[in-house]
Amino acid sequence: MSTYPHFGTDAIHAGQDPDQWSSKAVVPPIVMSATYKQRIPGQPDLYEYSRSDNPTRGVFERCIAALEGAKHGIAAGSGLGATTLLCQLLKSGDHVIAMDDCYGGTYRFFTAIMSKYGVEFDFIDLTDISLMEKTIKPNTKMIWAESLTNPTLKYTDIEAVVKLSKQNKDCIVVVDNTFMTPYFLRPLELGATIVYHSVTKYLNGHSDVVMGAICTNDDELGSKLKYFANACGIVPSPFDCFLANRGMKTLHVRMREHQKNATAVAQFLETSPFVEKVIYPGLPSHPQHELMKKQAKGFSGMVTFYIKGNLQKFFDAVKVFTLAESLGGFESLVEHPWSMTHASIPKEKREAIGVLDTLIRVSVGLEETEDLVADLEQALKASQ
Ligand SMILES: *Cc1c(COP(=O)(O)O)cnc(C)c1O
Repeated sequence: MSTYPHFGTDAIHAGQDPDQWSSKAVVPPIVMSATYKQRIPGQPDLYEYSRSDNPTRGVFERCIAALEGAKHGIAAGSGLGATTLLCQLLKSGDHVIAMDDCYGGTYRFFTAIMSKYGVEFDFIDLTDISLMEKTIKPNTKMIWAESLTNPTLKYTDIEAVVKLSKQNKDCIVVVDNTFMTPYFLRPLELGATIVYHSVTKYLNGHSDVVMGAICTNDDELGSKLKYFANACGIVPSPFDCFLANRGMKTLHVRMREHQKNATAVAQFLETSPFVEKVIYPGLPSHPQHELMKKQAKGFSGMVTFYIKGNLQKFFDAVKVFTLAESLGGFESLVEHPWSMTHASIPKEKREAIGVLDTLIRVSVGLEETEDLVADLEQALKASQ
């Protein structure tokens, strides 16, 4: 749970108390030990084995839980590792509703792995609540929403989804909050059962860790998920936990800058003659702009646009932006979902959700605003 009244103070102090270490270290140590000394056999003092629990991991878990306003935080070896853990809550015959343009890896895990175990999936546009009303069935056990979808940046009305999910007694609502981060959106406060993160992105923020996390206020789910993490062995290394915990110390500062730069980039792109269309939730032209103003505190740092120009010439010309997958790091990235992150989704489906060959996704980093805008301006010119 939150320890301090304001987000940034929790990011820096929650779970970090130096008194938890005999050394009184202000910065949490990286405890690499795989095992721990026991006095009485079978009755470990605090820790017994680092797959089950690890002091450095615990620091990270308490911090992310505080930031999401949750009682329980569970770290996983990657975002998809966290997906794997959450899917252990399902059994054969269960039905899941997921967003139609959900993260490509999530789509692949559901369709290629979970469907082998007899779990049924429907991928629908969750921004249309009447569609969800038609799709929910008595055996629907999980709704998988993304706070902002990837790459078309659709926002799901979390309160409406939660309300509708209540018609099934034991249907849980998972919100993948990777794109928004708890700095801008806290899904548990809107009634979601579980918040999910690819820590790899904004939470770590430095593009040097692959890691995931799950947060919940439900005690039973919290202990089940902790059990699954240990039983399935999908745990991150202490060093990764140290880095992600360190990254989160500046989450609030970084997110403010990401948003400032993304706003400037989106506003510039809207005026460019070489751009067909810009999608950024902070622009009044975004269809869920007003709804997001009610449920969120901001719009984060991802911008998507459709280019009118030659793609390869554009990618060859960018200097400050790097062509690479992933997002949420301090450095600005451009990406081509059609051939990169979303290539595993069938072509017709990609087209149906607006992932066209002309779509470019931008993760706006923390470089100086003017340099970012100027770089896009010259690259768009070069694309002609
Ligand atoms: C990257 C990402 C994931 C998967 O996380 P990994 O850490 O790469 O396993 C899931 N959801 C979203 C929205 C992502 O961007």
